[in-house]
Amino acid sequence: MIPPCPRCRRDAPRRFTVRGFDVHRCARCDLEFVWPTPSPEALASVYTSGYFEGGGAGYADYFTREREQVARKSHARLAALRELGVTRGRLFDLGCAAGYFLGHARAAGFTVAGAEPSPEALAAMDPSLRAAVVPSLDALADEARFEVITAWDVLEHLPDPDAALRALRARLTPDGVLAVVIPVIGSTTTRLAPGRWDQYKPPEHLWFWSARAMRALLADHGLVVVREDVAWRRPSRFIDPDGTARSPVVRLARALDALGHRALAAVAGPRVVTDSVAFYARVGPP
Ligand SMILES: [Zn+2]
Repeated sequence: MIPPCPRCRRDAPRRFTVRGFDVHRCARCDLEFVWPTPSPEALASVYTSGYFEGGGAGYADYFTREREQVARKSHARLAALRELGVTRGRLFDLGCAAGYFLGHARAAGFTVAGAEPSPEALAAMDPSLRAAVVPSLDALADEARFEVITAWDVLEHLPDPDAALRALRARLTPDGVLAVVIPVIGSTTTRLAPGRWDQYKPPEHLWFWSARAMRALLADHGLVVVREDVAWRRPSRFIDPDGTARSPVVRLARALDALGHRALAAVAGPRVVTDSVAFYARVGPP
């Protein structure tokens, strides 16, 4: 059976299978999704103890190795908000993990809150931040509203990102900004060798959007993208993409691969080498 695209209801045939999961693609709106959607039990088991430090699904060592990287990303994202004129107010981070971004946002002058279901991440959180973190979006007080809502590398994990965006949009003040980072499809890897793209990792990731599909999804919720930044770009795409090989031959091939992709990006546009994008959106005209 061919499932309908959850967004536009057109047929979405299977495109490929990865890790035993079928990825379907809507020809009309560029949306790709895992189907059937894994059970809530299967999804819950991904995030049990070990997700942030296990080295299997999730992160090898989020609490130490990722921390510096999160700091760099946080500063870039807070700078982007500043350039949009957003420097103060209430900020809510969905999927805040151990609260590293929240810490940077608080230091930058925001009043912060977050949602994070992982007990492991909560245990690693600065206690002064933990008081402002709820286990899920549903646990927020009815009246809670925010000038900034962020969801960094979160939407692709959720069983129903459309419902999550609806809930987030309802929490945004009229002049608020919603910022999300997602892995984007459209690069040469996702087109030519999808099995090799590290972001096709069900059941952890369930949804895959092109930049166009994400703009359309945000527009469905009355949000207009006002800024897009490349969040992550892998230099070499086909040869040793993680850059771990020691062999001089592989390293040379890797350099040539990276060079080829830089040349291709110059001709075909930067999206052929873009893996992940930060979108900043404002409430648009009705
Ligand atoms: Zn569709």
